[in-house]
Amino acid sequence: MANETVEISDLGNLRRTHYCGQVGLSDVGKTVTLLGWVNRRRDLGELIFIDMRDRTGLVQVVCNRAASAEAFRVAEAVRSEYVLAVIGTVAARAEGQINRDMATGSIEVVAQEIRILNTAKTPPIYIRDEAEQDELLRLKYRYLDLRRVPMQRNLEFHHKTSMAVRNYLSEQGYWEIETPMMTRSTPEGARDFLVPSRLDPGKFYALAQSPQLFKQLLMVGGTDKYFQIVRCFRDEDLRADRQPEFTQIDIESSFATEETVWELVEGLMKRLWKDVMNQELETPFPRLTYDEAMSRFGSDKPDTRFGMEIQDVTPVFKNTAFGVFRSTVESGGTLRAICLPGQAGVSRHEVDALTVRAKTHGAKGLVTVAYHEGDIKSAIKKYLTEDEISGLKQAVGANDGDMVLIVADAFETAVTVLGRLRLEMANKLGLIPKDKFNFLWITKFPLLKRNEETGEWEAAHHPFTSPMAEDALTLLRTEAPEALPDDVKAHIYARMYDLVMNGVELASGSIRIHRRDLQEKVFRLLGLSNEEARNKFGFLLDAFEYGAPPHGGIAFGLDRLVMLMAGCDTIRDVIAFPKTSSGTCPLTDAPAPVDDKQLADLGLARIDRK
Ligand code: ASP
Repeated sequence: MANETVEISDLGNLRRTHYCGQVGLSDVGKTVTLLGWVNRRRDLGELIFIDMRDRTGLVQVVCNRAASAEAFRVAEAVRSEYVLAVIGTVAARAEGQINRDMATGSIEVVAQEIRILNTAKTPPIYIRDEAEQDELLRLKYRYLDLRRVPMQRNLEFHHKTSMAVRNYLSEQGYWEIETPMMTRSTPEGARDFLVPSRLDPGKFYALAQSPQLFKQLLMVGGTDKYFQIVRCFRDEDLRADRQPEFTQIDIESSFATEETVWELVEGLMKRLWKDVMNQELETPFPRLTYDEAMSRFGSDKPDTRFGMEIQDVTPVFKNTAFGVFRSTVESGGTLRAICLPGQAGVSRHEVDALTVRAKTHGAKGLVTVAYHEGDIKSAIKKYLTEDEISGLKQAVGANDGDMVLIVADAFETAVTVLGRLRLEMANKLGLIPKDKFNFLWITKFPLLKRNEETGEWEAAHHPFTSPMAEDALTLLRTEAPEALPDDVKAHIYARMYDLVMNGVELASGSIRIHRRDLQEKVFRLLGLSNEEARNKFGFLLDAFEYGAPPHGGIAFGLDRLVMLMAGCDTIRDVIAFPKTSSGTCPLTDAPAPVDDKQLADLGLARIDRK
């Protein structure tokens, strides 16, 4: 309970002269006015210390009767999280009293006057910086959680990043233009959040999954260069670091080529790292085609901060006596391998654990060959010839003391399994340097991918991505693209690119289709009849008939970018009011039921879902 007898004062016309975290040795002797919260109070009888906090940090306020009997009297009533105005004199601390853990630890403020501007109940969460606590509780009392200095620092970091983005893009001639949030469905591959129309019952708006169609229409509209820091909404099954509403840096320009987009984005990253992190980035970033990334790293978002690349060891075993290897290759599969440095000595038990991991990732099995003290240890040793043993060692660049992992399977399975083991093992062995930022472009993706659940072909990026020039020509000449054989569909390539950093996809974009005939063919390739396409995207197809310029762009997930730059562990720590991983808001209790009257107004009926 708040202390009933405490007198609460008015702020009056008091003004802050300094933020708590910014008082320093150069202020010694000055009278300062601080406005903030009580982080902690320590009562030593004749001396009361108050650590005062605002969004910049902490400073120590000292109260003693000699300096001000009145301030001392008020300080006796002060408790944690009370809101105070403190007027005091800055004093240097004696050598032995300096607190090196505190940014302001070389000074303190001797209180002349203290006003209590408000009291506070005992908070349900610890607000002191170092406390680890239950995240649900933090989100329920987010307004208290946000008072913690690291949280304020994250918000500031987010703000600075957004400002640097706006400044840079504006300097490059890009205009920030708002697009509708309530719109028709925009196919980015997720489910839509729907908003029922009251004025037109039975009809719905969709919350935009991205401004994709509008930014393309802006290009048709002659805007030339557009960007927006924009909220996007996707009703997806949430994974650890996904939010149902999130912010993108969305960019589009007319007459774009891959090179112009990459150059712009490289400049943007350079600027962000310089302005926000005070670090120089090397550009241009390396580029890797999707196919190369898959075969070398088993992933379309490779972490290139360390080696351990996947090698094709099929040629080494072309005459193998080992049945599994032979039958895999005979049935069109492949043998791929990675080398774990210094792991030849691991126990049987650890090798078994690795095999279990490989199987959970989808492999049928795992073969290990350990190069140990001039000999090898392997369950398939009896099948291996001297040439194979030395050939394998050479192919993967192994040394004595290393262990080689081999997966025999179809290409896709073999490389993805090894790609995952590569990451897991590098993490476990501490091989990933934490202070590196390794950017790279992944280019030339396949246009289509199979839906994991239905097995049907769908757009790898979105349906507006242009196929590569030669594939576009073939499509234009094909009467019924939907009837193309699967192996042809699998090898149509797109003018699509992702920006990857340290194994995370930061941004994704493409050069778009700007011709009606090609867009219609791609819709058909995706299983949409001309009629369905006209119903859903007629406005875009029409627009393409009135002089649509070639155009392209990209979009970044801003929250994830800020999280990585700030070195935070979760995206929720850089969003002021995030949702939980199940999409709820513990602070407001959203989503919440609505009453029958509201439903009736919208022409909606309540159905009990069993
Ligand atoms: N609209 C796309 C997305 O949200 C990005 C782009 O192609 O610009 O993923």
